[in-house]
Amino acid sequence: TRKKIVAGNWKMNLDYAEGVSLFSEIVNMVRDEKKGDQIAIICAPFIHLNSLTQLGAETVKIGAQNCHQNESGAYTGEISAKMIKSVGCEYVIIGHSERRQYFAESDELLAQKTVIALQNNLTPLFCIGETLDERNNGSYFDVLKSQLVNGVFGLDAADFSKIVIAYEPVWAIGTGLTASSDQAQEVHAFIRAEITTKYGIDVAEGTSILYGGSCNPKNAAELFAQPDIDGGLIGGASLKSRDFTDIVKTFN
Ligand code: 13P
Repeated sequence: TRKKIVAGNWKMNLDYAEGVSLFSEIVNMVRDEKKGDQIAIICAPFIHLNSLTQLGAETVKIGAQNCHQNESGAYTGEISAKMIKSVGCEYVIIGHSERRQYFAESDELLAQKTVIALQNNLTPLFCIGETLDERNNGSYFDVLKSQLVNGVFGLDAADFSKIVIAYEPVWAIGTGLTASSDQAQEVHAFIRAEITTKYGIDVAEGTSILYGGSCNPKNAAELFAQPDIDGGLIGGASLKSRDFTDIVKTFN
């Protein structure tokens, strides 16, 4: 019985007042609608986090979108996992394709970030995903496997059991081009099989694997009905309280 998770990723959107206001709306709506034991999370910009953790109570959990790989020190402008934890966050996105692409974050760096997040009792939402070229030339399984091997398969089984994987095909992010439920299920089953090979069936069966990429209230039900899809990482639709709540409701 793995956890069902709907996580919003606000990315670099909403000023402070807008963020607090949208989050309050989301908490109120999700509180009324959420019936099952699924987990709702909002991953917000750093400066929103402290306020949101005060407002979220138990209804909506809070995550950051990134953290630095070191504990502390002379890294001007950076935010540590310890700081994120200290304001009450429970989650942190690591390895989003936008970080990999625009900030040149390598698998090795992301492995370090994952370790420091776990050391600070944050749950990493670790993202992997192939580009359109890699999908079209058929190398996507190799790409995804190497992201897993170099990013998170260095963890021991106890630590790996604490992380959440998110499959976000780069070609589906912000494009309106969702992976079909068959395409997503194929990859999720592959990821679970790789986890089984590495850590065994019990760890694999306990790992939540989320889908991300143009997920919305219309396509969420079909995606979440797939046997290896345990929820979603939601970009654009998490910026609308109704859409985000409707996606959460899909799991009731
Ligand atoms: P969209 O839902 O806007 O495609 O974004 C997905 C994503 O990148 C979530 O992390």
